[in-house]
Amino acid sequence: MTFRARHLLGIEQLAPDEIRSLLDLADTYVDLNRRTIKRTDALAGMTQINMFFEASTRTQSSFEIAGKRLGADVMNMAVAHSSVKKGETLIDTALTLNAMHPDLLVVRHPNSGAVALLAQKVNCAVLNAGDGKHEHPTQALLDALTIRRRKGRLQRLVVAICGDIAHSRVARSNLLLLGKMENRIRLIGPPTLMPAGVAEFGCEVYDDMAEGLKGADVVMMLRLQKERMDGGFIPSEREYYHRYGLDAEKLAHAKEDAIVMHPGPMNRGVEIDGTLADDINRSVIQEQVEMGVAVRMAAMDLLARNLKAERGARAAGVVV
Ligand code: ASP
Repeated sequence: MTFRARHLLGIEQLAPDEIRSLLDLADTYVDLNRRTIKRTDALAGMTQINMFFEASTRTQSSFEIAGKRLGADVMNMAVAHSSVKKGETLIDTALTLNAMHPDLLVVRHPNSGAVALLAQKVNCAVLNAGDGKHEHPTQALLDALTIRRRKGRLQRLVVAICGDIAHSRVARSNLLLLGKMENRIRLIGPPTLMPAGVAEFGCEVYDDMAEGLKGADVVMMLRLQKERMDGGFIPSEREYYHRYGLDAEKLAHAKEDAIVMHPGPMNRGVEIDGTLADDINRSVIQEQVEMGVAVRMAAMDLLARNLKAERGARAAGVVV
């Protein structure tokens, strides 16, 4: 197993061999998760704390289930009822929790870079569960696992990422991961929802769905991140759906066996047609959720191995 990282802060810091190792291990967890008895002891005796400073359904429950299946003691910090509401800073909160000796800290925060900052202050492994519009590494890894299992490979695929690219950490992490694995990436969306400097990303950019979807193997839809927009970026949701909402007619431009993905939460009738989202012959949205648990188990297992090795070396007097 090749995995050198101490924290999982973003895809940016991972090498292709580390990504492959993590996905290989995640494959074994997919099998385990389909059994009746799903428990292992990879994290037995270890403590995992989940701190979510932003709303989450899938990611938080997925990390909680993943930790429990690996045998960790899992604590979800109720941010809404915590000292954060009394004005405590992120760092003070983290230092308080650090004093309780957690081994893994899973953090989601509305500010880009906040999770990396926190990782510098604590002694445990930190996993980024989404920081602002920066990165959402476990989402890109679970998307990669879904694609690899469905398409039989993770290279030389044409992947179309559609919608609100500018505000999406999912798009950013996916761009990095799929780029590292040598895929052809197309970004499709209105120019107002494309990030500044998009021309330098090394991918093709389209504002027309029919053109951009031509020959795509994978179609990844994104939610309009209204909570990160200040002002109007689209004329209306109706107009947006008409031009950029994925339905069977637009999907017909992609390859016949193209798969449809969405990280959730989805807005039916805004970025995707509800019937298409539920079409089990095209949509892999539920599979993405399943892969999410396996990928998070793999990520925490690998970080815990590195943490144990580091602590073991330190105890033996080796400088690390
Ligand atoms: N759940 C994903 C995220 O946290 C995507 C989204 O919210 O649209 O970034």
